[in-house]
Amino acid sequence: MKLQRKTWWIVSVSILVYFIMLFLVIHPRPLYMVPGLLVLVLVLSYLFNKLIVSRVENLSKQLKRILTSKELSSRLTWSGHNQDEIHQLGSSINEMLDSIEEAQKEVNQLERCDPLTGLLNRYGLQEEFHNRHLNQLGNISFLFLDLDGFKRINDSLGHQTGDELLKQMTNRMLGMLQHDQELLGRMGGDEFVMIVPDMSKEELVHRTHEMMRSLKSEYSLEQVKTYITTSVGISRFPEDGNSFEEVFQYADIAMYEAKRKGKNQIVFYEELARDLDYKHVLDLENDLKFSLDQGELYLDYQPIYSSGDHLLVGVEALLRWNHPQKGLIPPNRFIPIAENGGFICDIGEWVLEQSIRQAARWRDAGLGEIGIAINVSKQQMKQKDRFIMKMDKWLKQYNVAPSELQIEITESDIFYYDNEIREFAQILRNKGVRVALDDFGVGTSSLFNLKQLPVNVVKIDRSFIRCVPQESFDTTLLAGIYHVLDDLGFEVVTEGVESADQMEFVSNSSSSMIQGYYFSRPVSPHQIALLIQQQLVRQEAAAGKKV
Ligand code: C2E
Ligand code: MG
Ligand code: MG
Repeated sequence: MKLQRKTWWIVSVSILVYFIMLFLVIHPRPLYMVPGLLVLVLVLSYLFNKLIVSRVENLSKQLKRILTSKELSSRLTWSGHNQDEIHQLGSSINEMLDSIEEAQKEVNQLERCDPLTGLLNRYGLQEEFHNRHLNQLGNISFLFLDLDGFKRINDSLGHQTGDELLKQMTNRMLGMLQHDQELLGRMGGDEFVMIVPDMSKEELVHRTHEMMRSLKSEYSLEQVKTYITTSVGISRFPEDGNSFEEVFQYADIAMYEAKRKGKNQIVFYEELARDLDYKHVLDLENDLKFSLDQGELYLDYQPIYSSGDHLLVGVEALLRWNHPQKGLIPPNRFIPIAENGGFICDIGEWVLEQSIRQAARWRDAGLGEIGIAINVSKQQMKQKDRFIMKMDKWLKQYNVAPSELQIEITESDIFYYDNEIREFAQILRNKGVRVALDDFGVGTSSLFNLKQLPVNVVKIDRSFIRCVPQESFDTTLLAGIYHVLDDLGFEVVTEGVESADQMEFVSNSSSSMIQGYYFSRPVSPHQIALLIQQQLVRQEAAAGKKV
């Protein structure tokens, strides 16, 4: 049997120790004792150091190196194959490193993945993009997908059903990946990103349409069947941008544009960047950010009249933007931009304070208490606590009764935000503030909204009066609407009354209040004051006649 070098070495040192001890026992003289014991101690400590301390030190050095370099895949090594304690210590440390590496992998997985679908999250997608050196593969397309109206499904069918839908969608999309260089990730909510390398624009359009068609077909979810469409924004590397972040952001912008243009469609960022109108919107957005501080915004007020005696009973505050170069820009153009840009809440709060303060000014000028209506946007309703806190503060500060304030909710906003809007409206009603459903009749499921929403005023959209009284269909329809709304107990305002015929029709067939160019266009606070003064004079004269 071939003995190992180390074993030879240990045997020889042990024999040496044995002989030294034997020598000392046979010759127990101090002359030999002192140097003998000294040699013994030296040999033993050398032996101890060689067999134990240096090996432990070696393990400890290796462990330190692994920990400082964070290379959790490295393992400790040691010499000799004997199963001694040092071997056991090394093996235990290696086992510990195994489990740390395993745990680290799990943490990494969690950091990179979306727990609901198991897809990569944004961080994971970005890491994979770089790890696979996808940017060296020629052109790469980023498809940013967002479901249309997913929030409504979540709100009406519950979050569990919403999650189930997302999982089924994920499976459909995974089934559409063509090879393992294509990546799919979920960015949260109902947003997905697919990265497709090396595909021509024509092929990509064809494939995206196919994917949209597949995602649109029926989903069976716990006792309900549903359909959903998708909006897709596409941006391409390297034409549109040369970093992951840039191309990702452009795909997101293109997706928003697909939503804005009516959903269920594809928009290429490249087309957007060429589109002058879009550039114009970006310019406007930039200018609008500063418009409030630059004093370019102001409010006009449009009077609202009672139907029988044609008295001015309130005004609607309408926002105006006087752009220094482009002149007056209509609210229908700039309010959606402020909403998308995220600064509608600041503007909306300014409108709220200005209007309440204006009502107080008219009252303090002896013109009586004039009801003021203001329009709120969906973002303001989503941040309802902020809005309500400010509203309470200003009503108190300017000493205006809540019943003098009317908040107008646009019907088309309700489709996507029904829960938030219902809560918002209920809080306002509880405080005694009037809540109006604006542009009634042009949004979806109009009559149903009336049952769901705690509104007390309905403003009929001006498209209903346009052909009245000339067209009998429109005339009958409007008369029917008055009848229904009256029976249901709503106060009604007819918008867009422009002619004497229309005014007469409204006055004769309903108790609806009237707003429209026939009585007055939106005008300055000063002109409103003049209108009220004239009305007061007329009322005094009439009272004088009666006496
Ligand atoms: P809206 O709340 O339905 O306001 C009524 C709109 O109809 C106003 O347009 C008004 O000028 C117009 N109008 C009134 N009478 C007539 C008429 O007889 N004929 C015609 N053709 N139009 C008439 P404007 O001022 O351009 O406002 C448009 C929309 O912008 C408003 O519709 C409202 O939804 C929104 N808006 C205005 N101010 C604000 C605001 O401060 N905040 C928010 N979030 N939206 C606002
Ligand atoms: Mg309005
Ligand atoms: Mg309206």
